[in-house]
Amino acid sequence: MNWQYETKPPKCPVCESTHIAEIQYGTPIYVTQNKYILGEENEIYLDPELEAQIKSGEIVLGGCFQFKDSPAWRCNNCKTKLYKSPKDNPQNAT
Ligand SMILES: [Zn+2]
Repeated sequence: MNWQYETKPPKCPVCESTHIAEIQYGTPIYVTQNKYILGEENEIYLDPELEAQIKSGEIVLGGCFQFKDSPAWRCNNCKTKLYKSPKDNPQNAT
């Protein structure tokens, strides 16, 4: 089942959990440039605010690249992936 929504759904369509995380793509924000060691030791230093959001389950890191079929949200309870409906996801949105 490919769940699609125009905006973040208030609850999971499968388990009805309200713990829906936003999947964030792209390179995370690093605290300082000189602490950026990703690749050599796989050690990354996240922005404290972002790290807090990850720990609280608001945000999930989805990797560096977002594809057309990449999910936009994920249920923290049952791990169901939720997708943004295409019509609300124009490539060149302002
Ligand atoms: Zn769920």
